[in-house]
Amino acid sequence: MSIENLARENVRRLTPYQSARRLGGNGDVWLNANEFPQAPEYSLTLHTLNRYPECQPAQVIARYAAYAGVTPEQVLVSRGADEGIELLIRAFCEPGKDAILFCPPTYGMYAVSAETFGVERRIAQSTADWQLDVASIERQLDNVKLIYICSPNNPTGNLVNQDDLRRVLALARGRAVVAIDEAYIEFCPQASTVNWLADYPHLVILRTLSKAFALAGLRCGFTLANADVIQLLLKVIAPYPLSLPVADIAAQALSDAGIAQMRRNVAEVRENRRWLEEALNNLDGVDTVFASESNYLLVRFADSATVFKTLWDQGIILRDQNKQPGLAGCLRITIGNRYECERVITALQALSATTA
Ligand code: PMP
Repeated sequence: MSIENLARENVRRLTPYQSARRLGGNGDVWLNANEFPQAPEYSLTLHTLNRYPECQPAQVIARYAAYAGVTPEQVLVSRGADEGIELLIRAFCEPGKDAILFCPPTYGMYAVSAETFGVERRIAQSTADWQLDVASIERQLDNVKLIYICSPNNPTGNLVNQDDLRRVLALARGRAVVAIDEAYIEFCPQASTVNWLADYPHLVILRTLSKAFALAGLRCGFTLANADVIQLLLKVIAPYPLSLPVADIAAQALSDAGIAQMRRNVAEVRENRRWLEEALNNLDGVDTVFASESNYLLVRFADSATVFKTLWDQGIILRDQNKQPGLAGCLRITIGNRYECERVITALQALSATTA
């Protein structure tokens, strides 16, 4: 008997998440993972590693709570927002019985995490303007324990209407947890639903240091929810989810100086996004540049396959979104620094000159 046959059936069938790093490429302009282009400088203040870390490092929790405007009891810290996505399934979904629901086109890890645990996946495809199809969500709610909604949505970049979010929260009350993925919320902080926690015992908000805080390599994310939800998640989290160096640097990133730096990062991204959007709109071969509230632009090209391959061969790595429902011809471009944005435009100009 092969080892393969010993594995759980759904693991044998599973296609793992195709993360940007797994997809590879040989680039010098990395615009496929929605990272921040510059690395902040941090040094460790702690130099001993013989002791286990705290499960939930108190200083990190206190600082994130102050930053987000919640109490420490409403915060859980984990190995990226991705671990928060998974913990929710572990705590709320019975394999083979319960389901999760999400709204494509959207972030891929909700589906992959559910599949890993053998939990059914329901799909309420977004409307043509990438808003929630609330009627479709309502029709499919039987046995759904968890609804994931990403706002700003990856990869489309738009915000989900707050009235629709409230309608879904009303439908789900007493039946399902609604997890709003705010991984990109620092780019449009006014849109956060964090102030709704008092109104909805079943609201969960996912956050991360990977985007505006420029710390994707640190692997640190947060789940915000009412205290009883956090207590449930603490039952299923690993005993020591954050290493001591991670907690050390996360606390620094959440100091006043760290938060001020994050706000400068956001201003720079917004300015470069405006520049890139305008330059793309002036190019032949660009059908649509979709409005974005985040650190990436979704762009529909007349010939996205050629654009993707030509830029790839020049070391400019974008993210192909063709396979997502409704996104034929679309590529996602992370907002890099100005030089990186210029490299994209120069390469596209050269391409349209050869194909004109
Ligand atoms: N949610 C969304 C919408 C994302 O785009 C990402 C990053 N790929 C994550 C969650 C996961 O973030 P983290 O790096 O904190 O695991």
